[in-house]
Amino acid sequence: MSFCLGADIGGTNIRIGLVDEEGRIVARRRLRTDPQAPPGTVLERLARTALAMAEKHEVASFGIGIAGLVDHRDGLVFTSPNLPAWERVPVKDILSRLTRLPVFCANDANVVALGEWLFGAARGSTDVLVITLGTGVGTGIIAEGRLLLGANHYAGELGHTVIFPNGVSCPCGNRGCLERYVGAEAIVHRCRRLLRLQQHRLASNRNQLTLFGGASEQQSLLFDLINYDYRRLTPKEIGIAARKGDRLALEVVEETGRLLGLGIYNAIMILDPEIIVLGGGISRLGRPLLRAVQKSVNSRLYGANRSFRIVLSKLVDDAGILGASRLGQIFSASD
Ligand SMILES: [Zn+2]
Repeated sequence: MSFCLGADIGGTNIRIGLVDEEGRIVARRRLRTDPQAPPGTVLERLARTALAMAEKHEVASFGIGIAGLVDHRDGLVFTSPNLPAWERVPVKDILSRLTRLPVFCANDANVVALGEWLFGAARGSTDVLVITLGTGVGTGIIAEGRLLLGANHYAGELGHTVIFPNGVSCPCGNRGCLERYVGAEAIVHRCRRLLRLQQHRLASNRNQLTLFGGASEQQSLLFDLINYDYRRLTPKEIGIAARKGDRLALEVVEETGRLLGLGIYNAIMILDPEIIVLGGGISRLGRPLLRAVQKSVNSRLYGANRSFRIVLSKLVDDAGILGASRLGQIFSASD
């Protein structure tokens, strides 16, 4: 049996998997990423780990997904937002030399989209939009059965489409990018603001209650989950509270879903996908997020015959490894 290696290089972790012909991950490793480390050192560690995993197996190719602008043909990483030391790194050349395997590289969102298309929620569809929600908002597009790269390999930058012309500034140089409203940082910021407001309201209600009596607003579960320390708040706690029906957490998730739905609606108008898959860590906000996105998209739709589905990823972290492992087949077939 032949195997393929797939790796997903992120800002905090590198996930590596050995994948069989059926798309099963038969072995996996995780390495911590030091964003400041020289790319050569990181790639040497990756190659060593991958070769150890591949020992005793026949390995056909090694696929790499990495956040940033990637020249898919030459396997060159121009820039990576999470890895500032990575500028014009010939990843394909370096890893081919170190592993003596055919190496293929792609943008991480494209790799996740391939994973969802070949093995996940979008299996069997020809027109797919996969959105990875995390620190940033990545997008991979399968159009008419092919991965869409675009003329400059920039296709699928939904996170940097503008939803508010005078909105908050974005590191990309624009204002009001979708990512600034639905990325992890924005969600936490939105939640902190609501928690502070509630804390304020509850304190002043208590003062008034002692004077007049009356019903008080229920305090959010989040205060206990973060032990009243706002710095401990992450999307994970917001998800836990939302699933327990916490009103404040649900308000945060609903607002996030409403804005994400606006971005997705715009993409639907351009691409007419059959299925939209929400993946990445933030998709763990789960059903409340999905419902809010669906509501937001449906409220804008016109025309009776547009049929599509919006679903949550079931693969989440594995989508990157699985998609990367198939880059060899995808790129060899398109040459
Ligand atoms: Zn931007």
